[in-house]
Amino acid sequence: MSQQADQFKKLVSHCKEYGFIFPSSEIYDGLSAVYDYGPYGAELKNNIKAYWWQSMVQMHENIVGLDSAIFMHPLIWKASGHVDAFNDPLIDNKDSKKRYRADQLIEGYLEKLEEKMAKEVEKARKRFGDSFDEAMFRQTNPRVAEYQQQHDAILDRFTQSMGAGNLADIKALIDELEIADPETGSRNWTEVRQFNLMFSTQYGGSVSDEDSKLYLRPETAQGIFVNFLNVQKTTRQKVPFGIAQIGKAFRNEIVARQFIFRMREFEQMEMQFFVRPGEEMKWYNYWKEARMKWHLALGTPAEKLKFKDHDNLAHYANAAVDIQFDFPFGFKELEGIHSRTDFDLSSHQQLSGRKLQYFDSELNENYVPYVVETSVGCDRMFLALISQALQEESVPDAKGEDATRTVLKLHPALAPVKCAVLPLLKNKEELTGKAREVFNDLKHSFLCQYDEKDAIGRRYRRQDAIGTPFCVTIDFDTLEDNTVTIRERDSMQQERVRIDEVEGIVRKRTEMAGLFR
Ligand code: ATP
Repeated sequence: MSQQADQFKKLVSHCKEYGFIFPSSEIYDGLSAVYDYGPYGAELKNNIKAYWWQSMVQMHENIVGLDSAIFMHPLIWKASGHVDAFNDPLIDNKDSKKRYRADQLIEGYLEKLEEKMAKEVEKARKRFGDSFDEAMFRQTNPRVAEYQQQHDAILDRFTQSMGAGNLADIKALIDELEIADPETGSRNWTEVRQFNLMFSTQYGGSVSDEDSKLYLRPETAQGIFVNFLNVQKTTRQKVPFGIAQIGKAFRNEIVARQFIFRMREFEQMEMQFFVRPGEEMKWYNYWKEARMKWHLALGTPAEKLKFKDHDNLAHYANAAVDIQFDFPFGFKELEGIHSRTDFDLSSHQQLSGRKLQYFDSELNENYVPYVVETSVGCDRMFLALISQALQEESVPDAKGEDATRTVLKLHPALAPVKCAVLPLLKNKEELTGKAREVFNDLKHSFLCQYDEKDAIGRRYRRQDAIGTPFCVTIDFDTLEDNTVTIRERDSMQQERVRIDEVEGIVRKRTEMAGLFR
């Protein structure tokens, strides 16, 4: 097993063992691509959502929140284009019986070509040292130039075929490139078919009546669009302004094999920003930068994040970029920033027969606003954070079992539990009573944990494994002078402080405001 695959396996089992994520319906052997968040997972997820919500709604006077229903009128999905166009091209391997997304097989091939080019570039960089000119090398090195030419030709054809819905050509491309089943190497493929990703259900008493068919929303954005005027009028917002929403979305994904990266039920954090027509690119660039800063503020190393422009623009977009994260299985989409034009509002206006226009008093003009959207998956954010936070380290001066520790170096503002309160010994009533007192006071301010079981070292390890930034230990000196030791998770440094200082120390490091400043 590769090192990355091994790390990923460890991450999945850590999430289960420490109460972050459980497979759904586990006692019935699970339900594929659906997961439940355990006690610490629920806390971390809530904190991710709070960080996003506050950064949008609290930090911007011109962004307000919304919580629209999951069920919506079925015509909404007609207008949005999802009924006709929310499809993925699927292909089955006849030997392995495994199902794949045809577009992802081709994208995987293109990524391999990119990796080959990057390898050549790195080799040359080492050879030429400081005088290395990458752009020149890419142009003149025959091998790289050939890869690039091949890459561009495939991308061009792929983009055209995807845009035209030419499934036969997608299949032909897979055959010509001799793309094999990544798991078994077989090239025995079926034809490519379109597959609609929306889940549907029946509304009311009638069965199998097309008119009563309801969809589980595949994105939260449409709830924002159809409420655009309600929100604008009730909050007296002026363009440009945004509406933010966090909520569940459902997609019947064809391939869902990467833990919480691709789920059939997941949560999105979406913000639609309504702007004057013609100003959308200015705001698109603004939100691109703002969203990258949001990720970096959490301490994510810059080399783990990158922008990737879309090769295939969705039917509603005139510009689109992903923020990709270096997941344990490579760089993949974490967030999308899309310039959605006036597509959605105009379609709803047309199909509903209701005006969805804004009167711009400065321009003395009515128009349908353009929209720039930022859309990040809460679960993918969770996976990104856990995958960079989970670390195994050696502990200086420790022996045996204690010589290594597993620590979850989450940003303290997002950590599930902020502070653990630990009496040095379990059977000394003076110590446990005092520790309870400290705990009962601190719990007014943060989520804290009281733990008296096992040796103190074991208790530190348990808190490290769930990412608790501070542990406070009550010992015999505490009873004399009202001081405690406070241990910081990452440095493992211990400091002696007064009990009445603890709240301030923990607050300063764990408050969300630190992320905004
Ligand atoms: P992908 O190309 O990976 O299927 P997408 O381009 O369809 O993603 P969007 O429609 O842009 O995704 O959705 C916005 C965000 O919602 C994504 O950036 C991702 O974080 C999240 N998301 C989308 N689909 C899923 C899913 N099946 N499971 C978890 N999160 C998802």
